[in-house]
Amino acid sequence: MKTILILCLLVAITSITPLTFAQNAIDGFSAERAAAERRWEEQFRSVPTAQSAREHLRRLTLEPHIAGTKEDYDTAVYVRDQLRNFGLNAELKEYDVWLNYPNTPSVLELITTRRQRLNTREAVVPGDASSSNPKITPLFNGYSASGDVTAPVIYANYGLPNDYDDLKKIGVDVKGKIVIVRYGNSFRGVKAKVAEDHGAIGCIIYSDPADDGYMQGDVYPKGPWRPVASGQRGSVQYLFDYPGDPLTPGRPSIPGVPRLKPEEATDLTRIPVQPIAYDVAKTILSQLQGPLRPRGFQGGLPFAYHVGGTDDLKLHLKTDMDYKSRTIWDVVARIDGNEEKDRWVVLGNHRDAWVFGAVDPNSGTSAMLEVGKGFAQLLKSGWKPRRTIILCSWDAEEYGLVGSTEWAEELAPELKDKAVAYLNLDAAVSGANFGASSVPSLWKLLRAVTRDVKDPKTGKSVYQQWQDHAREERSEDDEFRGETRIAALGSGSDYTPFLQHLGIPSTDMGFGGDYGVYHSAYDSFHWMDKFGDPGFRYHVAAAQVWGTLAMRLADADGLSFDYTDYAEQVREYFNEALRIAKRRNLAGSFDPKPMTEAIDDFGKEAERVEKNRQEAIRNGDRARLAKINDALVQAERQFLDPRGLRGRAWYKHQVYAPGFYTGYAAQPLTDFRQALDDRNGVNAKESLERIVAAIRRATATLKG
Ligand SMILES: [Zn+2]
Repeated sequence: MKTILILCLLVAITSITPLTFAQNAIDGFSAERAAAERRWEEQFRSVPTAQSAREHLRRLTLEPHIAGTKEDYDTAVYVRDQLRNFGLNAELKEYDVWLNYPNTPSVLELITTRRQRLNTREAVVPGDASSSNPKITPLFNGYSASGDVTAPVIYANYGLPNDYDDLKKIGVDVKGKIVIVRYGNSFRGVKAKVAEDHGAIGCIIYSDPADDGYMQGDVYPKGPWRPVASGQRGSVQYLFDYPGDPLTPGRPSIPGVPRLKPEEATDLTRIPVQPIAYDVAKTILSQLQGPLRPRGFQGGLPFAYHVGGTDDLKLHLKTDMDYKSRTIWDVVARIDGNEEKDRWVVLGNHRDAWVFGAVDPNSGTSAMLEVGKGFAQLLKSGWKPRRTIILCSWDAEEYGLVGSTEWAEELAPELKDKAVAYLNLDAAVSGANFGASSVPSLWKLLRAVTRDVKDPKTGKSVYQQWQDHAREERSEDDEFRGETRIAALGSGSDYTPFLQHLGIPSTDMGFGGDYGVYHSAYDSFHWMDKFGDPGFRYHVAAAQVWGTLAMRLADADGLSFDYTDYAEQVREYFNEALRIAKRRNLAGSFDPKPMTEAIDDFGKEAERVEKNRQEAIRNGDRARLAKINDALVQAERQFLDPRGLRGRAWYKHQVYAPGFYTGYAAQPLTDFRQALDDRNGVNAKESLERIVAAIRRATATLKG
């Protein structure tokens, strides 16, 4: 609020026609150029239509299109040809990567006094014709090992380290057993890793109805939530170690690059992992004996959960995976910048899906095509973006961000030099509630852009709807100094290689809602048409927000990056870490002063650069702006440490990375926080020194 006031005052003082200028003002643009920018942006936003967004989604979701299949290739060709028809340069980019499909549906048997075969397929749902498509793959996990195991079964709640601690306390050991865990609270790859580390020989993951089933509301096809015979596919790659092709960590999967042997890859599990539906889980869990569940273990099935482990009930699990090097296809379209061709604004969305992927990810692909169409029309009308815009349709994201990671690794030196920002869109639409994650330097820009896009349902701005919704759901976290909260980037989508490996300022966003069919056969066109976005107006809004954001970054005189927000956010992270350190009696193991000073200096420098930026924009000082822009972009790169995080060198960013035991969620000041969790004072001291050095480098870059 404060900043806006100051800006308006500045505007009033310096502009000859304060009123029109104030109306047209866009941060980062001179008065004259702001008016032109506004006209281009408005023209852009008039291009996407619900009708064509709907048709793209229908075409993209006709067949299941898992990465590396013919149907996936067909979607790549569709996207490329659409972009070409609009008039853009679009090419396929191939990589050969290590992927698995199930040879046969997994075998799951319950062995008591008799043998009972359990289902590993999803059921046909009346009313959704695509649910009977014979190409729907049975339930399986990407990067599960092949295996054939028989053992007693133990229920281990969410499969987090502390769940195993709770089991130990009641005398239950999972060694040599098969564990059954529920989805939620951690990335499924973490569940596989923790199970394996505790000596389990197999891992079954089910969707508890408390999570996204009937406890949330009516189930599909009556409502949007997960029906009883539905399971969640998904990768169990240890992407918190490194994402991408497991056989080429840190290097692109192109000809000539040597591959690891699969047994050398440290991001793959060695045990069979299998997802199941909750009707199958009910059959198993309802028969478990052994101790009553510890506190926090009870889910939404209608009986008291027991943890099992007794010999009178065993599971037989057989997974038979077809592992091979397979070709995947990214689609890359490039619009050359008119004045700064070597400064890139990169937009990315993945295209591959576990089944039809109407929400995840093709609502985003449909939006990307609408954005491409909009840009192409502007170009025909004479729009000349200052910087280069690159549209990327990624493949094999579902397996572990493979298509984006390989591309980012192949172009690493160029991207580090040229990339201004990376703007991700994954599951763009599953409802009407806007949400975003980004680096703090882009918060103001994201908010500004959402003020200029209309929310289809309310007619207010997306920003206003976003703020109203946050207020309804009010939690402490949702508001940040009177503003809508923008979350931290962890992992689980394609921004990871760009931000956490290459230090490129990144954003992610989408419109969310009641979405209970994630990674199932029911994430279909029919589901979207009926529940997610009837009318497809939020597909249009997603394209409008995304495209406007890209245009502003591509066209600005002085990039709208604000590092004062970054400094304040890092200070908050650090204060929180200090409280944890005190609670764990670790406060004596490091000196907080250098960090506090580094943050102070960083914040001061950020303020100074911001002043200079505003002044240079007003004066139209192009040479100075070029320098300031480069400093703003390169400051983020300085958060990288070439040595990487402790034990996982692929992750270079010192502030943002997924936590080792969260896998999706960010653990800011990652290594420092991990050291506190490990109660390791020596590591805490060393990690903090690295973070301080990174902040000092970023400060020096801003100074330059
Ligand atoms: Zn996705």
